Amino acid sequence: MILYSLKCSHDHVFDEWFSNISDYDVRKTAGDLVCPECGDKDVAKAMMAPRVGKSQPEPAPRCMPGGCGGCQFAGHE
Ligand SMILES: [Zn+2]
Repeated sequence: MILYSLKCSHDHVFDEWFSNISDYDVRKTAGDLVCPECGDKDVAKAMMAPRVGKSQPEPAPRCMPGGCGGCQFAGHE
């Protein structure tokens, strides 16, 4: 699930959960995104909500194609 902050054309900001990134486009196209304050359907993505902005540890970088001769990804192609 992804939490987006949405903003209507009247600058009302509200949060909405989406099952994935494309779910936003699907629901916007379907007219399913409505401002809870004024009922405006002209909503757009605002800043990402802080709740999902927690920094995740960077995944270990993959080694070079062809291998590096002993990294943790031993066995890769
Ligand atoms: Zn509104």
